[in-house]
Amino acid sequence: MAWRTPLSLTNFCQKTLPLLDHHVKEDRIMEAVATIIETDQWNSFNRFHDTTKTLVRYYQEAGVDVEVASLPTGGEMGSGRWIIHQAADINKATVDIINPVGQRLLDYQDNPWHLIQWSGSTPAAGIESKIVIIDSRKELDRISAKGLVGKMVLTDLNPRHHLQKLIDTGAVGVITDRPIPNLSDAIGWTKFGWGGIPIGVTGNQQDFVGLVISKTQGAELRQLLKKHGKVVVRTQVDIDRYHGSHDVVSGIIRGADDPQDELWVLAHSAEPGAHDNASGVALCVEIARIMAELIAQKLLPRPKRSIRLLSAYECYGFFKYLEDTRYLQTPLAGVVVDTIGSKSEVCDGRLEWHATIPMSAGFVDRVGEAIIHATLNLSSPGYQLYLEPFVSTSDTLIGDPKYGFPAPWLTTHHQDQNIGFDAYHSSADTINLIDPKGLVTCVTAIAGYLYYLADAGSQEVIELATAETDRTISQLRKSPQRLKAKVDYICHGHRETINRLKRWMWGGDRKEILVHLDNCQHQVQEAASSIMSRPVTFRKARTQKGEINNQVYPHRTAVLSPDWGNNTNSEIRLKMEKSRLKPWALFWADSNRSLEEIADALSVEYGKKVTLRQVTNFFEAHQELGYVKLIKAKDRISKSQLVTNLHQLGLESGMNLMVHSSLSQIGYPIGGANMVVEALLEVIGDQGTLMMPSFNHRSAEIFNPMTTPTINGAIPEAMWRRMEAVRSLHPTHAVTAIGPKAAEYCEGHLEIGIWAEDSPIGRLIHGGGYILSLGVTHESSTAYHVAEVSMPCGCIDPFGNIDRVVTSDGTVAEVKGLAFRAGVCPVSPAELDTALNNLGLQRLGKVGKADAALVKASDLWEIRRQHLKDACPNCTIQPSIRK
Ligand SMILES: [Zn+2]
Ligand SMILES: [Zn+2]
Repeated sequence: MAWRTPLSLTNFCQKTLPLLDHHVKEDRIMEAVATIIETDQWNSFNRFHDTTKTLVRYYQEAGVDVEVASLPTGGEMGSGRWIIHQAADINKATVDIINPVGQRLLDYQDNPWHLIQWSGSTPAAGIESKIVIIDSRKELDRISAKGLVGKMVLTDLNPRHHLQKLIDTGAVGVITDRPIPNLSDAIGWTKFGWGGIPIGVTGNQQDFVGLVISKTQGAELRQLLKKHGKVVVRTQVDIDRYHGSHDVVSGIIRGADDPQDELWVLAHSAEPGAHDNASGVALCVEIARIMAELIAQKLLPRPKRSIRLLSAYECYGFFKYLEDTRYLQTPLAGVVVDTIGSKSEVCDGRLEWHATIPMSAGFVDRVGEAIIHATLNLSSPGYQLYLEPFVSTSDTLIGDPKYGFPAPWLTTHHQDQNIGFDAYHSSADTINLIDPKGLVTCVTAIAGYLYYLADAGSQEVIELATAETDRTISQLRKSPQRLKAKVDYICHGHRETINRLKRWMWGGDRKEILVHLDNCQHQVQEAASSIMSRPVTFRKARTQKGEINNQVYPHRTAVLSPDWGNNTNSEIRLKMEKSRLKPWALFWADSNRSLEEIADALSVEYGKKVTLRQVTNFFEAHQELGYVKLIKAKDRISKSQLVTNLHQLGLESGMNLMVHSSLSQIGYPIGGANMVVEALLEVIGDQGTLMMPSFNHRSAEIFNPMTTPTINGAIPEAMWRRMEAVRSLHPTHAVTAIGPKAAEYCEGHLEIGIWAEDSPIGRLIHGGGYILSLGVTHESSTAYHVAEVSMPCGCIDPFGNIDRVVTSDGTVAEVKGLAFRAGVCPVSPAELDTALNNLGLQRLGKVGKADAALVKASDLWEIRRQHLKDACPNCTIQPSIRK
C-alpha cells in the first residue's frame, strides 16, 4: 500500500484550501514583487535595510506581528561560520572608454548588475588602465605574479573561480562578459564570494575591482581592441565598506493555543532578481495578508501554533539567526520558497517540490504534495507538479534534524531537470518572467501546507503515522537491493518521521497515541526482517589496515554545519572537498554510529560506494573546525559498566530513586542518554520506581505534557519521552516517573502544590526514597525545596502565579503555579554536600566518568531544615508574583 491521503488532509483540501485560494490577490502580490526589487536590485546593504522597512510596513498593514533581528557583519565566526565579513554600500561604479574613442561602457546607476559583488573601490578620480583579454585558465596561469600591474582584465570566465590568481597578477580589476544562455544582452550576476569575502582576499587586496558587461557589449569591446590594438578605460568605483548589519525580518501569524511552537518559511531576500527571490518574499507577505483577513473575518480559526515568515540574506541570515536565537525547541517544520511563480514558458510548466533533506522527517513532503495537487485542481496556470529529490540550496540545509526542521523546497527555478531558467542570476530576471496566476497558485499551496501543519493535533498524528507506515512497508517490499544497510536506511527515515510527529500531539490519551506509534514502528521492523535476505554490507575487508581506525564514533559538538565554501581556510576546505561528501553527512555524527556505519548509510544515500577514507577525511576536517569530536571505542561506556558502577555506589533493587544528572559528565555512553535511563531501571529492578525532573522552569509559555521538553538535560529528556513514563501535570515543574509507584507519585501535582509534603518529590522523600546525583551537586536536588516549604518559608508561594497548561481534551486551561522567591536564599544549598559528607550520610563514587553521590532523600531534607532553622523565621524575601 502506498501513501493514502489521510482523511483530515482530504477534508482540509476540500474545505479550507479553496477559502485560502479565493483570498489571494494577483495585483497585490505583483505590486509587492515590484516594490521589493526596487530596493533589493541595488545589491547594497543600505538598500537592503530599505527592503526591511518595506516588509515591516507590509506586515503591519496586514495586521500581523513583525520582528526584525539585526545581525552584525564581521566579528566572531560562530559555530556556523555563517558570517558576512563586511557590509558594503555602493555609491558609484562606472567604466568609460577613453581611448581610442570616448564612450561610456557601463554605469551601475543605469543597471546595478554591472558591478561584481564584493568589488573593491578605486580612488575618486578613477584609474586609467589598458584592457588585456584572458579567456582561459591556461592563459591566466601563464601570467607571472605582478605580470599585469596597472591593467584591466577582460574575461569570459567567471572571476569568482579564479579570484586569487587574478589578484596575484597585480591587475587593477576584472571585467567579465561571461555568457548567459540564450540571452546575449543579459548581464550575469557575479560575485567574488558569496556571503563573505573569501578568506585570503582581505585588507587592501580587496581594492581589486570587478565589473560585468553583457556578451553583446563584450563582443563590441573585443572588436574595438582588435581594430585598434589598444583600449584604455577609466574605472571609478566608490563603495563604503564597514562593520554594519543585515536584517532577518519575520512576519508572524501568532498561534491561538501555543504561539511559542512555530512553523517557518524561509524566503531569502537581498538578491537582485524579481523571480529570484522577490517572488518568494512577496509570497510571505501575501500569506500574512490572507490569513490575517480570514482570521479577522472569522472565516478561519487562528491556527493552534504560529507561522513565522522569514526573509534574510540567505543562509547567512537564517543560520546565524537560528544560532543566535534561543528556542525552547526547534520549529516543527517549514518550507523553503525560492524563485516561484514563473510563467509556464519560462519553467516549461515545472512546478517543482523538492524533498526535505534525506534523513529528516519526510512526511512533510507527502503533506505538501497532496496540498499542491489539490491547489492545481483549483486553478492551474499551466503547471505540472514535479516531485524532485533533495537539493541543497544551502537554505534547505536547515532540514538537518539536529538543529533545524524538515523543510521541502517549492520552486519554478528549472526549465528542465537540474537546468535553471535561462535568465537565472542575470539582469534578465525581471518581473515580466512572473505569471501572477502562477504566484497565486504558489501562495495558496504554501498557505495550505503551513495552516494544516500549524493546526494539526493528535488525530492528524495518528493518520499521518499510519500513512507513512504503509508507505515505508511498500517501499521495503519494492526495494530491489535487500541489503541490510539499505533496509536500515529506510527504517531510519520512518523512525525520524514517527519521532517528529510526536511534536504535534495535542490532547487525547498519551498512552493510546504512543501505543499506536509504537505499533507503526513494529510493523516496519517486522516487514524489514521478513524481507532481509542477506545481511551484506557494502564492503568487505577493503579497509587499509593500520591506516584508518574504523572504531571511531563521531559526536557532534556544535549546531549547524559550517560554511566551508566561503569561510574556512583553504587547507580544511580542500580536505572537505576531497572527501566528496555533502555537508549534511555531518548529521550522522550521533556518537553511536561508527565511521564504517556512516560510510554504509551514505553509500545507500548516494547510491554508490562511499569509502571509509572519504568519511574519515570529512570528519577529521570537521573535528579540526570544532564541529565534531571523534570518540575512540575505548572511551565509550557500556551499559554493564554503568550498572556495575551504580551497584558499587550502593544502588539496590527495589529502591525508589530521584535522579539529577549531567550526561556530558558521564562521558559517552553507548546508546546515549536513553541507555543511562535503562541502566538505572535495570539496577532498581521491577520493584523500584525511578523519578526525574522534567521541568521547563517557565521556558514554556504553555505546558503541553505531551510535547513540552525539559531543560534539565538529555537524560531527563530521554526519560519523559519513554512510552511507559508517567509525567505529572505541572506547568513549570512536572516530574516523570517509571515503575510501580509512578502513577501514585505523580497524581494531583497541580492541586497539591509543587513542593508540598504530599507532592511527587515529597512522597518519595517520606516514603524512604533516595536521591542520586550524577555529575551534579545537590544544588540541583529539588528535594531541598520540599524542606524549605515545610519550614514553612515565606519566599515560596506554590500557587502565586497564573500559568497555562494543555488539558487532555485539548483545551488550554489557566492554572495556579509557582511564585518562587524574588531574592537569593541567605542559606546556600551549596552547604548540603559538605554537611552530608561530614556526617557520612552519603556514598560517593564514580558512574562512568561522573562524580556521583547517593543519599537518603529524608536525610537531605532533614539537613536542609536544620540549616534553615534560624534563617526562615526572620527572612523577608517575598515570592515573585508576575503582574
Ligand atoms: Zn539566487
Ligand atoms: Zn534564490
